[in-house]
Amino acid sequence: MTTTTGQSLENALTALKANYIDANPKSAERDRLARKSLPGGNTRTTLFYDPFPLVFARAEGSRLESIDGDAYVDFLGEYTAGLYGHSNPVIMRRLHEVLDEGIVLGGYNRYEAEFAAELSSRFPSMQLLRFTNSGTEANLMALSAATAHTGRQGIVVFDGAYHGGVLSFSIGVEAPNVPHDFRRLRYNDEPALRQFMQTAGNEIAAVIVEPMLGSGGNIPAAPSFLRALREETERAGALLIFDEVMTSRLGPSGMQGRLAITPDLTTLGKYLGGGMSFGAFGGRADIMERFDPSKPGSLPHAGTFNNNVLTMAAGLEGLRRILTPEVIDELNQRGDSLRTELNRAFDVGGVSLQATGVGSLLSIHAVRGRISSAEDLMAADQRIKELLFFHLLEDGFWMARRGMIALSLAVRDEEIAGLVESVRSFVERYGELIR
Ligand code: PLP
Repeated sequence: MTTTTGQSLENALTALKANYIDANPKSAERDRLARKSLPGGNTRTTLFYDPFPLVFARAEGSRLESIDGDAYVDFLGEYTAGLYGHSNPVIMRRLHEVLDEGIVLGGYNRYEAEFAAELSSRFPSMQLLRFTNSGTEANLMALSAATAHTGRQGIVVFDGAYHGGVLSFSIGVEAPNVPHDFRRLRYNDEPALRQFMQTAGNEIAAVIVEPMLGSGGNIPAAPSFLRALREETERAGALLIFDEVMTSRLGPSGMQGRLAITPDLTTLGKYLGGGMSFGAFGGRADIMERFDPSKPGSLPHAGTFNNNVLTMAAGLEGLRRILTPEVIDELNQRGDSLRTELNRAFDVGGVSLQATGVGSLLSIHAVRGRISSAEDLMAADQRIKELLFFHLLEDGFWMARRGMIALSLAVRDEEIAGLVESVRSFVERYGELIR
Protein backbone atom coordinates (compact mmCIF):
# COMPACT_ATOMS: atom_id res chain seq x y z
CA MET A 1 0.00 0.00 0.00
CA THR A 2 1.42 3.42 -0.92
CA THR A 3 1.81 6.10 1.69
CA THR A 4 -0.79 8.24 -0.09
CA THR A 5 -3.30 5.42 -0.01
CA GLY A 6 -2.49 4.71 3.62
CA GLN A 7 -2.97 8.40 4.39
CA SER A 8 -6.31 8.48 2.58
CA LEU A 9 -7.46 5.39 4.45
CA GLU A 10 -6.56 7.16 7.68
CA ASN A 11 -8.50 10.25 6.57
CA ALA A 12 -11.55 8.20 5.57
CA LEU A 13 -11.53 6.51 8.95
CA THR A 14 -11.16 9.79 10.81
CA ALA A 15 -14.13 11.20 8.88
CA LEU A 16 -16.36 8.21 9.66
CA LYS A 17 -15.39 8.32 13.33
CA ALA A 18 -16.14 12.04 13.49
CA ASN A 19 -19.66 11.34 12.15
CA TYR A 20 -20.01 8.56 14.70
CA ILE A 21 -19.04 10.86 17.58
CA ASP A 22 -21.54 13.51 16.42
CA ALA A 23 -24.33 10.94 16.04
CA ASN A 24 -23.92 9.30 19.45
CA PRO A 25 -23.57 11.92 22.21
CA LYS A 26 -25.44 9.86 24.81
CA SER A 27 -23.22 6.82 24.32
CA ALA A 28 -20.18 9.11 24.61
CA GLU A 29 -21.49 10.55 27.87
CA ARG A 30 -22.15 7.09 29.26
CA ASP A 31 -18.59 6.15 28.37
CA ARG A 32 -17.25 9.13 30.33
CA LEU A 33 -19.30 8.13 33.39
CA ALA A 34 -18.48 4.43 33.10
CA ARG A 35 -14.75 5.17 33.19
CA LYS A 36 -15.14 6.32 36.79
CA SER A 37 -16.01 2.83 38.02
CA LEU A 38 -14.99 0.38 35.29
CA PRO A 39 -11.47 0.20 33.82
CA GLY A 40 -11.77 1.95 30.46
CA GLY A 41 -15.52 2.06 31.07
CA ASN A 42 -15.58 -1.65 30.21
CA THR A 43 -16.37 -4.96 31.85
CA ARG A 44 -16.04 -7.17 28.76
CA THR A 45 -12.93 -6.45 26.71
CA THR A 46 -14.36 -7.83 23.45
CA LEU A 47 -16.98 -5.09 23.38
CA PHE A 48 -14.53 -2.21 23.52
CA TYR A 49 -13.70 -0.13 20.46
CA ASP A 50 -12.40 3.35 19.85
CA PRO A 51 -13.59 6.12 20.29
CA PHE A 52 -16.33 4.63 22.56
CA PRO A 53 -18.78 1.75 22.15
CA LEU A 54 -22.47 2.25 21.41
CA VAL A 55 -24.77 1.70 24.37
CA PHE A 56 -27.95 -0.22 23.65
CA ALA A 57 -31.24 0.47 25.37
CA ARG A 58 -33.45 -2.33 24.09
CA ALA A 59 -33.83 -5.04 21.50
CA GLU A 60 -36.51 -7.10 19.83
CA GLY A 61 -36.28 -9.75 17.12
CA SER A 62 -33.42 -8.66 14.86
CA ARG A 63 -33.47 -5.01 15.99
CA LEU A 64 -31.27 -3.21 18.47
CA GLU A 65 -31.91 0.33 19.64
CA SER A 66 -29.16 2.53 21.03
CA ILE A 67 -29.63 5.04 23.84
CA ASP A 68 -29.02 7.65 21.15
CA GLY A 69 -32.32 6.55 19.59
CA ASP A 70 -31.01 4.76 16.46
CA ALA A 71 -32.09 1.31 15.29
CA TYR A 72 -29.65 -1.32 14.00
CA VAL A 73 -30.18 -4.71 12.41
CA ASP A 74 -28.32 -7.11 14.66
CA PHE A 75 -25.90 -9.21 12.62
CA LEU A 76 -23.74 -9.99 15.64
CA GLY A 77 -26.30 -12.11 17.51
CA GLU A 78 -24.44 -11.62 20.81
CA TYR A 79 -21.30 -13.36 19.49
CA THR A 80 -23.42 -16.51 18.81
CA ALA A 81 -25.29 -16.54 22.15
CA GLY A 82 -28.28 -14.73 20.62
CA LEU A 83 -29.23 -17.41 18.11
CA TYR A 84 -32.94 -17.25 18.99
CA GLY A 85 -33.13 -13.51 18.32
CA HIS A 86 -34.07 -10.92 20.92
CA SER A 87 -37.03 -11.63 23.17
CA ASN A 88 -38.07 -14.73 21.28
CA PRO A 89 -41.74 -15.09 22.33
CA VAL A 90 -41.49 -18.84 23.04
CA ILE A 91 -38.53 -18.38 25.34
CA MET A 92 -39.92 -15.21 26.93
CA ARG A 93 -43.16 -17.01 27.82
CA ARG A 94 -41.24 -19.83 29.45
CA LEU A 95 -39.05 -17.43 31.39
CA HIS A 96 -42.08 -15.59 32.74
CA GLU A 97 -43.66 -18.88 33.83
CA VAL A 98 -40.46 -19.91 35.55
CA LEU A 99 -40.10 -16.53 37.26
CA ASP A 100 -43.59 -17.03 38.68
CA GLU A 101 -42.61 -20.44 40.06
CA GLY A 102 -39.65 -18.95 41.92
CA ILE A 103 -35.93 -18.94 41.12
CA VAL A 104 -32.72 -19.71 43.04
CA LEU A 105 -34.29 -22.74 44.71
CA GLY A 106 -31.13 -24.07 46.33
CA GLY A 107 -31.86 -27.66 45.35
CA TYR A 108 -32.36 -29.91 42.34
CA ASN A 109 -35.07 -28.61 40.02
CA ARG A 110 -37.22 -30.37 37.48
CA TYR A 111 -35.44 -29.03 34.41
CA GLU A 112 -31.78 -29.96 34.74
CA ALA A 113 -32.01 -33.70 34.06
CA GLU A 114 -34.36 -33.21 31.11
CA PHE A 115 -32.12 -30.54 29.65
CA ALA A 116 -29.07 -32.78 30.06
CA ALA A 117 -30.90 -35.68 28.38
CA GLU A 118 -31.88 -33.45 25.45
CA LEU A 119 -28.29 -32.25 25.01
CA SER A 120 -26.95 -35.76 25.28
CA SER A 121 -29.35 -36.98 22.58
CA ARG A 122 -28.21 -34.18 20.26
CA PHE A 123 -24.52 -34.64 21.02
CA PRO A 124 -24.22 -38.42 21.55
CA SER A 125 -20.51 -38.19 22.43
CA MET A 126 -21.68 -36.42 25.62
CA GLN A 127 -22.80 -39.58 27.38
CA LEU A 128 -22.78 -37.72 30.67
CA LEU A 129 -22.49 -33.99 31.15
CA ARG A 130 -22.46 -31.25 33.72
CA PHE A 131 -23.57 -27.65 33.59
CA THR A 132 -21.51 -24.56 34.31
CA ASN A 133 -22.16 -20.82 34.06
CA SER A 134 -20.10 -20.06 30.98
CA GLY A 135 -18.08 -21.57 28.18
CA THR A 136 -14.91 -20.50 29.98
CA GLU A 137 -15.86 -22.50 33.03
CA ALA A 138 -16.86 -25.49 30.90
CA ASN A 139 -13.40 -25.52 29.35
CA LEU A 140 -11.67 -25.09 32.72
CA MET A 141 -13.58 -28.11 34.00
CA ALA A 142 -12.88 -30.18 30.89
CA LEU A 143 -9.15 -29.50 31.26
CA SER A 144 -9.26 -30.40 34.96
CA ALA A 145 -11.12 -33.59 34.12
CA ALA A 146 -8.46 -34.43 31.52
CA THR A 147 -5.49 -33.89 33.83
CA ALA A 148 -7.22 -35.86 36.61
CA HIS A 149 -8.15 -38.70 34.29
CA THR A 150 -4.79 -39.09 32.57
CA GLY A 151 -2.48 -38.07 35.43
CA ARG A 152 -0.60 -35.91 32.90
CA GLN A 153 -0.19 -32.15 32.77
CA GLY A 154 0.45 -31.10 29.15
CA ILE A 155 -2.37 -29.37 27.26
CA VAL A 156 -2.04 -28.80 23.51
CA VAL A 157 -3.69 -25.58 22.29
CA PHE A 158 -3.55 -23.72 18.99
CA ASP A 159 -2.43 -20.22 18.06
CA GLY A 160 -5.46 -17.98 17.65
CA ALA A 161 -7.72 -20.20 19.76
CA TYR A 162 -10.10 -18.74 22.31
CA HIS A 163 -11.46 -21.03 24.98
CA GLY A 164 -12.43 -18.31 27.47
CA GLY A 165 -11.27 -15.27 29.40
CA VAL A 166 -8.43 -17.21 31.07
CA LEU A 167 -7.81 -19.57 28.14
CA SER A 168 -6.98 -17.18 25.36
CA PHE A 169 -4.25 -17.80 22.79
CA SER A 170 -4.22 -14.84 20.40
CA ILE A 171 -0.86 -14.27 18.81
CA GLY A 172 1.07 -11.41 20.42
CA VAL A 173 -1.38 -10.85 23.29
CA GLU A 174 -0.34 -11.45 26.91
CA ALA A 175 -3.52 -12.93 28.39
CA PRO A 176 -4.02 -13.56 32.13
CA ASN A 177 -4.38 -17.31 31.50
CA VAL A 178 -4.66 -20.10 34.06
CA PRO A 179 -1.25 -21.70 34.65
CA HIS A 180 -1.63 -25.01 32.79
CA ASP A 181 1.34 -26.57 31.02
CA PHE A 182 0.22 -25.32 27.60
CA ARG A 183 2.01 -26.38 24.40
CA ARG A 184 1.03 -24.12 21.52
CA LEU A 185 0.91 -25.38 17.95
CA ARG A 186 -0.16 -23.86 14.66
CA TYR A 187 -3.80 -24.48 13.68
CA ASN A 188 -4.32 -26.73 10.67
CA ASP A 189 -0.64 -27.73 10.59
CA GLU A 190 -0.93 -31.50 10.45
CA PRO A 191 2.78 -32.34 10.02
CA ALA A 192 3.72 -30.18 13.04
CA LEU A 193 0.99 -31.79 15.09
CA ARG A 194 2.02 -35.34 14.18
CA GLN A 195 5.66 -34.63 14.86
CA PHE A 196 4.87 -33.04 18.23
CA MET A 197 2.61 -35.88 19.35
CA GLN A 198 5.14 -38.49 18.33
CA THR A 199 7.84 -36.94 20.48
CA ALA A 200 5.85 -35.51 23.43
CA GLY A 201 2.47 -37.28 23.20
CA ASN A 202 3.04 -39.23 26.42
CA GLU A 203 3.17 -35.95 28.42
CA ILE A 204 -0.14 -34.72 27.03
CA ALA A 205 -3.39 -34.91 29.01
CA ALA A 206 -5.52 -33.34 26.29
CA VAL A 207 -5.63 -31.51 23.01
CA ILE A 208 -8.32 -28.85 23.11
CA VAL A 209 -9.50 -27.54 19.77
CA GLU A 210 -12.26 -25.44 18.25
CA PRO A 211 -13.40 -27.31 15.11
CA MET A 212 -13.40 -23.80 13.62
CA LEU A 213 -11.38 -20.99 15.20
CA GLY A 214 -14.28 -18.75 16.27
CA SER A 215 -13.07 -15.55 17.93
CA GLY A 216 -9.84 -16.12 16.04
CA GLY A 217 -11.68 -15.28 12.82
CA ASN A 218 -14.02 -18.12 11.83
CA ILE A 219 -11.24 -20.16 10.26
CA PRO A 220 -12.46 -23.74 9.69
CA ALA A 221 -10.26 -26.70 10.53
CA ALA A 222 -9.51 -29.01 7.63
CA PRO A 223 -11.40 -32.25 8.33
CA SER A 224 -8.12 -34.12 7.78
CA PHE A 225 -6.50 -32.00 10.53
CA LEU A 226 -9.24 -32.90 13.00
CA ARG A 227 -9.00 -36.56 12.00
CA ALA A 228 -5.24 -36.41 12.60
CA LEU A 229 -5.95 -34.99 16.05
CA ARG A 230 -8.29 -37.90 16.75
CA GLU A 231 -5.69 -40.44 15.63
CA GLU A 232 -2.75 -38.87 17.43
CA THR A 233 -4.57 -38.36 20.74
CA GLU A 234 -5.80 -41.94 20.67
CA ARG A 235 -2.32 -43.23 19.95
CA ALA A 236 -0.81 -41.15 22.77
CA GLY A 237 -3.50 -41.96 25.35
CA ALA A 238 -4.43 -38.27 25.51
CA LEU A 239 -7.99 -36.90 25.43
CA LEU A 240 -9.43 -34.96 22.53
CA ILE A 241 -11.60 -32.05 23.66
CA PHE A 242 -13.81 -30.35 21.10
CA ASP A 243 -14.68 -26.83 22.20
CA GLU A 244 -18.01 -26.46 20.45
CA VAL A 245 -19.08 -23.40 22.43
CA MET A 246 -19.47 -21.57 19.13
CA THR A 247 -19.59 -24.34 16.54
CA SER A 248 -22.32 -26.52 18.05
CA ARG A 249 -24.83 -24.48 16.03
CA LEU A 250 -23.26 -25.48 12.72
CA GLY A 251 -25.16 -28.76 12.55
CA PRO A 252 -27.81 -30.65 14.51
CA SER A 253 -24.94 -32.45 16.30
CA GLY A 254 -22.40 -29.66 15.93
CA MET A 255 -19.22 -29.93 13.92
CA GLN A 256 -18.52 -33.36 15.41
CA GLY A 257 -21.72 -34.58 13.76
CA ARG A 258 -20.93 -32.91 10.45
CA LEU A 259 -17.49 -34.48 10.35
CA ALA A 260 -18.32 -37.78 12.08
CA ILE A 261 -15.47 -37.35 14.56
CA THR A 262 -16.11 -38.38 18.17
CA PRO A 263 -14.14 -36.41 20.76
CA ASP A 264 -13.62 -37.71 24.30
CA LEU A 265 -14.98 -34.51 25.82
CA THR A 266 -17.04 -31.65 24.41
CA THR A 267 -17.75 -28.21 25.78
CA LEU A 268 -20.83 -26.13 24.99
CA GLY A 269 -22.01 -22.61 25.73
CA LYS A 270 -23.66 -19.53 24.27
CA TYR A 271 -27.15 -19.91 22.65
CA LEU A 272 -27.85 -23.30 24.23
CA GLY A 273 -28.91 -21.53 27.44
CA GLY A 274 -31.67 -19.75 25.52
CA GLY A 275 -29.94 -16.41 26.11
CA MET A 276 -29.18 -17.00 29.81
CA SER A 277 -25.66 -17.61 31.20
CA PHE A 278 -24.71 -21.12 30.16
CA GLY A 279 -21.96 -23.66 29.79
CA ALA A 280 -21.66 -27.45 29.79
CA PHE A 281 -18.93 -30.03 29.60
CA GLY A 282 -19.36 -33.72 29.02
CA GLY A 283 -18.26 -36.79 27.17
CA ARG A 284 -17.22 -40.39 27.73
CA ALA A 285 -19.05 -41.93 30.67
CA ASP A 286 -15.84 -43.39 32.14
CA ILE A 287 -14.34 -39.90 32.38
CA MET A 288 -17.45 -38.05 33.51
CA GLU A 289 -18.34 -40.67 36.12
CA ARG A 290 -15.45 -39.31 38.14
CA PHE A 291 -17.83 -36.47 39.03
CA ASP A 292 -20.43 -38.86 40.48
CA PRO A 293 -20.65 -37.71 44.12
CA SER A 294 -22.11 -41.02 45.26
CA LYS A 295 -18.79 -42.74 44.47
CA PRO A 296 -15.86 -42.69 46.90
CA GLY A 297 -13.02 -40.38 45.84
CA SER A 298 -15.15 -38.52 43.27
CA LEU A 299 -14.04 -35.18 41.86
CA PRO A 300 -16.03 -32.29 43.30
CA HIS A 301 -17.56 -29.78 40.89
CA ALA A 302 -19.69 -27.11 42.51
CA GLY A 303 -21.22 -23.86 41.23
CA THR A 304 -24.11 -21.93 42.76
CA PHE A 305 -25.76 -21.25 39.42
CA ASN A 306 -24.88 -24.48 37.59
CA ASN A 307 -28.54 -25.52 37.57
CA ASN A 308 -30.00 -22.01 37.46
CA VAL A 309 -33.67 -22.60 36.71
CA LEU A 310 -33.89 -19.76 34.19
CA THR A 311 -31.05 -21.22 32.11
CA MET A 312 -32.26 -24.81 32.44
CA ALA A 313 -35.85 -23.99 31.48
CA ALA A 314 -35.03 -21.52 28.69
CA GLY A 315 -32.39 -23.83 27.20
CA LEU A 316 -34.72 -26.82 27.25
CA GLU A 317 -37.60 -24.83 25.76
CA GLY A 318 -35.41 -23.55 22.92
CA LEU A 319 -34.26 -27.04 21.97
CA ARG A 320 -37.70 -28.62 22.25
CA ARG A 321 -39.84 -25.93 20.68
CA ILE A 322 -37.62 -23.97 18.29
CA LEU A 323 -34.30 -25.43 17.28
CA THR A 324 -35.19 -28.49 15.23
CA PRO A 325 -32.49 -30.00 12.99
CA GLU A 326 -34.31 -28.48 9.98
CA VAL A 327 -34.19 -25.00 11.52
CA ILE A 328 -30.47 -25.39 12.21
CA ASP A 329 -29.75 -26.54 8.66
CA GLU A 330 -31.79 -23.76 7.14
CA LEU A 331 -30.03 -21.05 9.16
CA ASN A 332 -26.67 -22.45 8.08
CA GLN A 333 -27.72 -22.41 4.44
CA ARG A 334 -28.69 -18.75 4.78
CA GLY A 335 -25.25 -18.06 6.25
CA ASP A 336 -23.56 -19.91 3.39
CA SER A 337 -25.38 -17.83 0.80
CA LEU A 338 -24.60 -14.59 2.66
CA ARG A 339 -20.90 -15.57 2.62
CA THR A 340 -21.08 -16.27 -1.12
CA GLU A 341 -22.75 -12.91 -1.77
CA LEU A 342 -20.19 -11.01 0.28
CA ASN A 343 -17.29 -12.71 -1.43
CA ARG A 344 -18.85 -11.95 -4.81
CA ALA A 345 -19.06 -8.26 -3.86
CA PHE A 346 -15.40 -8.28 -2.77
CA ASP A 347 -14.30 -10.09 -5.96
CA VAL A 348 -16.24 -7.79 -8.27
CA GLY A 349 -14.71 -4.75 -6.55
CA GLY A 350 -11.24 -6.33 -6.62
CA VAL A 351 -10.68 -5.37 -2.96
CA SER A 352 -8.49 -7.19 -0.47
CA LEU A 353 -11.34 -8.47 1.66
CA GLN A 354 -12.82 -11.93 2.08
CA ALA A 355 -15.47 -13.62 4.18
CA THR A 356 -14.57 -16.88 5.91
CA GLY A 357 -16.53 -19.27 8.11
CA VAL A 358 -19.07 -22.06 7.95
CA GLY A 359 -22.87 -21.79 7.88
CA SER A 360 -24.28 -19.06 10.09
CA LEU A 361 -20.87 -17.90 11.37
CA LEU A 362 -18.83 -15.51 9.22
CA SER A 363 -15.81 -13.25 9.57
CA ILE A 364 -14.57 -10.61 7.19
CA HIS A 365 -10.81 -10.28 6.83
CA ALA A 366 -8.68 -7.71 5.05
CA VAL A 367 -6.49 -10.43 3.57
CA ARG A 368 -6.09 -11.94 0.12
CA GLY A 369 -5.27 -15.59 -0.39
CA ARG A 370 -5.94 -18.68 1.65
CA ILE A 371 -6.55 -18.33 5.37
CA SER A 372 -5.99 -21.50 7.37
CA SER A 373 -4.40 -20.28 10.59
CA ALA A 374 -4.19 -17.21 12.81
CA GLU A 375 -0.73 -16.54 11.36
CA ASP A 376 -2.35 -15.90 7.95
CA LEU A 377 -4.17 -12.88 9.39
CA MET A 378 -1.13 -11.13 10.78
CA ALA A 379 -0.43 -8.99 7.73
CA ALA A 380 -3.98 -7.58 7.58
CA ASP A 381 -4.43 -3.81 7.80
CA GLN A 382 -6.89 -3.58 10.73
CA ARG A 383 -8.04 -0.12 9.61
CA ILE A 384 -9.91 -1.66 6.67
CA LYS A 385 -12.17 -3.69 8.94
CA GLU A 386 -12.62 -0.67 11.15
CA LEU A 387 -13.69 1.39 8.16
CA LEU A 388 -16.21 -1.30 7.17
CA PHE A 389 -17.54 -1.43 10.73
CA PHE A 390 -18.23 2.32 10.89
CA HIS A 391 -19.64 2.34 7.35
CA LEU A 392 -22.11 -0.43 8.25
CA LEU A 393 -23.08 1.38 11.44
CA GLU A 394 -23.96 4.48 9.41
CA ASP A 395 -26.23 2.25 7.31
CA GLY A 396 -27.83 0.76 10.42
CA PHE A 397 -26.09 -2.65 10.62
CA TRP A 398 -24.47 -3.98 13.77
CA MET A 399 -21.66 -6.54 13.64
CA ALA A 400 -18.52 -7.13 15.69
CA ARG A 401 -15.83 -4.51 15.30
CA ARG A 402 -13.45 -7.41 14.59
CA GLY A 403 -15.52 -8.34 11.52
CA MET A 404 -17.63 -11.16 12.88
CA ILE A 405 -21.22 -11.95 11.92
CA ALA A 406 -23.42 -14.56 13.63
CA LEU A 407 -26.85 -14.88 12.03
CA SER A 408 -29.77 -15.26 14.38
CA LEU A 409 -33.11 -16.85 13.54
CA ALA A 410 -34.71 -13.41 13.73
CA VAL A 411 -32.75 -11.83 10.86
CA ARG A 412 -34.98 -11.61 7.79
CA ASP A 413 -34.01 -12.16 4.15
CA GLU A 414 -34.57 -8.50 3.26
CA GLU A 415 -32.22 -7.51 6.08
CA ILE A 416 -29.57 -9.86 4.70
CA ALA A 417 -30.08 -8.29 1.26
CA GLY A 418 -29.71 -4.86 2.89
CA LEU A 419 -26.41 -5.83 4.47
CA VAL A 420 -25.06 -7.10 1.15
CA GLU A 421 -26.14 -3.85 -0.51
CA SER A 422 -24.36 -1.82 2.17
CA VAL A 423 -21.19 -3.89 1.69
CA ARG A 424 -21.40 -3.30 -2.07
CA SER A 425 -21.67 0.44 -1.52
CA PHE A 426 -18.66 0.23 0.83
CA VAL A 427 -16.63 -1.47 -1.90
CA GLU A 428 -17.66 1.22 -4.39
CA ARG A 429 -16.99 4.08 -2.00
CA TYR A 430 -13.63 2.93 -0.67
CA GLY A 431 -12.44 0.48 -3.35
CA GLU A 432 -9.48 2.66 -4.31
CA LEU A 433 -8.17 2.59 -0.74
CA ILE A 434 -8.45 -1.12 -0.09
CA ARG A 435 -7.14 -2.88 -3.20
N1 PLP B 1 -14.94 -21.23 23.77
C1 PLP B 1 -15.22 -20.61 22.62
C2 PLP B 1 -14.92 -21.32 21.33
C3 PLP B 1 -15.76 -19.34 22.61
O1 PLP B 1 -15.99 -18.72 21.45
C4 PLP B 1 -16.04 -18.70 23.84
C5 PLP B 1 -16.60 -17.34 23.87
O2 PLP B 1 -16.59 -16.60 22.93
C6 PLP B 1 -15.75 -19.39 25.02
C7 PLP B 1 -15.22 -20.66 24.95
C8 PLP B 1 -16.01 -18.76 26.34
O3 PLP B 1 -17.37 -18.74 26.59
P1 PLP B 1 -17.95 -17.70 27.67
O4 PLP B 1 -17.83 -16.35 27.06
O5 PLP B 1 -19.37 -18.15 27.88
O6 PLP B 1 -17.13 -17.85 28.89
